[in-house]
Amino acid sequence: MRIVLLGPPGAGKGTQAKVLSNNLKLAHLSTGDMFRDAVKSGSVAGKKLSEYMQQGLLVPDETVNEIITQKLKDESIQNNFVLDGYPRTLPQAVELDKFLKSNKIPLDYVIYMQASEDVVISRLTGRRVCEKCGYNYHIKNIPPKKSGICDYDGAELYQRKDDEEETVRRRWKVYSEQTALLIDYYAGKAILREVDGDLDVDALNKYLNALFQNENLS
Ligand code: AMP
Repeated sequence: MRIVLLGPPGAGKGTQAKVLSNNLKLAHLSTGDMFRDAVKSGSVAGKKLSEYMQQGLLVPDETVNEIITQKLKDESIQNNFVLDGYPRTLPQAVELDKFLKSNKIPLDYVIYMQASEDVVISRLTGRRVCEKCGYNYHIKNIPPKKSGICDYDGAELYQRKDDEEETVRRRWKVYSEQTALLIDYYAGKAILREVDGDLDVDALNKYLNALFQNENLS
């Protein structure tokens, strides 16, 4: 199964991609996670990436395309993957299509997780991440037992720089201007399915499981 998750930052793509990857045994390809790992490594490339990310801007298409096509050349990944956060621009979608076509591996589904601006802003600005295990909390919706401390390993929680309000608003703007148009692009290919990204994690997960069960039966 080859799936793309599309939607604004904060729609829950990362969370649902993890669940789908476990349930359907898919490789989880998150460009955001790949870039965060590169930033953590402290490499020169990582420093450049962090400039884009901290400002809420998109990393240039050539860089992202190169990383993803390299991953997809791996035959153990090609047939079973969930793409989370890619493509995010029209040139990325076109490049992905070109690669998949030349390797005869068509996409099965593009899941558009629609979410409203208010929900996204509140989810992202309230998100806190464990510095050790990476577990995501939310100050109101999923608070840790002890404020600022991870329930699982006692490490401190931090706010991602790109989750600060000004940056979140810029990320929303960038999404509206550069990524939202992919909804029409994929609607034209008849593989688009729409889900309500305003739902909470469990409700959305139930919905997606049902969607895949039904699709598999048809
Ligand atoms: P995410 O965790 O998916 O929200 O990604 C975090 C940041 O990584 C984004 O705000 C961008 O700066 C960068 N990024 C991730 N995926 C892409 C992409 N497909 N194209 C360009 N930049 C990306």
